[in-house]
Amino acid sequence: HEQTMVARRRRLLGPAYRLFYEHPVHLVRGEGAWLFDAAGERYLDCYNNVASLGHAHPSVVEAIATQARQLNTHTRYLHDTVLDYAEALLASFPAALGPDAGQVMFTCTGSEANDLALRIARAHTGGEGVVITSLAYHGVTSALAELSPSLGEGVPLGRHVATVAPPDLYRRGPDMPARFAADIAAAFAGLARHGIRPCALLVDTMFTSDGVFPDPAGFLREAAAAARAAGALFIADEVQPGFGRTGTMWGFARHGVEPDIVTMGKPMGNGHPVAGLVAQAAVLERFAATARYFNTFGGNPVSAAAGLAVLRVLAEEALPDNAAAVGTFLAEGLRDLAGRHALIGDVRGAGLSIGVELVRDRATRDPATAATTRIVNALRQRRVLISASGPGANILKIRPPLCLSRAQAEMFLDALDAVLREASA
Ligand code: PMP
Repeated sequence: HEQTMVARRRRLLGPAYRLFYEHPVHLVRGEGAWLFDAAGERYLDCYNNVASLGHAHPSVVEAIATQARQLNTHTRYLHDTVLDYAEALLASFPAALGPDAGQVMFTCTGSEANDLALRIARAHTGGEGVVITSLAYHGVTSALAELSPSLGEGVPLGRHVATVAPPDLYRRGPDMPARFAADIAAAFAGLARHGIRPCALLVDTMFTSDGVFPDPAGFLREAAAAARAAGALFIADEVQPGFGRTGTMWGFARHGVEPDIVTMGKPMGNGHPVAGLVAQAAVLERFAATARYFNTFGGNPVSAAAGLAVLRVLAEEALPDNAAAVGTFLAEGLRDLAGRHALIGDVRGAGLSIGVELVRDRATRDPATAATTRIVNALRQRRVLISASGPGANILKIRPPLCLSRAQAEMFLDALDAVLREASA
């Protein structure tokens, strides 16, 4: 049946959207960190950084249903839920972006949020030059495809874009934080030599698509300072790290830095499409002076109800704390596995955003690209869903729902141990 569906999908949707796995999974139901396929098989979800509260969380489902029964409409009318949500969301930010200083603009997708953030940064700085990391992904619009080197060489970067190597402690050495900041300064200077004035430093605060680079906490402060010294704004893309994944509500908070603009999406509605950005009022005023913005569905009452329920459940179930505790447990277990499996070159992460780098040789750090693909597929056979990224496609990215229990983390470790043993046999 799956193969019939694959053929039907190819015929109806065309070749652009790729499926996950050679033999794709046909999922029909989810609960907590579990996913169930059409045959009733259960999978542990360590891949899908969307349903952060757990799949089909009843509080979110109920909030969506209640609001949908009452009214959903476009965003040009007054609505209490939208204002309540904006207020609750701003309350999760440090003072400089909080309810007295910050403002929210809602969109439907992370791409729209980043696209809007760039327009705002352009209006604010009068410049165009954007610095990103060398394997970044920021979204799907044409403006963002020019800023998303992870899409491959077939999608050229814009002339106004400069890339810097990600802050990779494992491969670039311990002086990395200072070098990362210096690279950013040099990138803006390079753009200026071509007459391109600075606009923004745009980075995912966990460098998720580059390969997960969280350490040492604090290095983003120097990076942001370098961008600001050049006259650019610092835009934190929190689409992946946001809403508690790293053990704190926002990924940038680990670094003790306050961005000029924060973009968010993915887990914001626990699966319901809602996204947006937060910025200082003064930054948004400048944009609104010259531009109008309308987003038919962005921040509609049903999205706001979903988002509000997500914030409530994150707090009620203390999910950022669980992400920190179970994330630490998982990382320790992975380091323990590294003691037995030479394929593991590095384990790094914060909370439940963990990268495991697989290498053919610990001395040369040669990426174990083929082995990583085999391991991702072998884990699927053991009913664990996970993805890989990085320039060598050799970095396992572990991003389970934040409700992951210790027992589930142990299941993951046992499965990985088994497939690593098979891989070395
Ligand atoms: N930024 C980052 C860091 C992302 O990972 C993604 C999605 N993978 C986006 C932006 C774009 O979000 P969306 O797919 O909701 O447009």
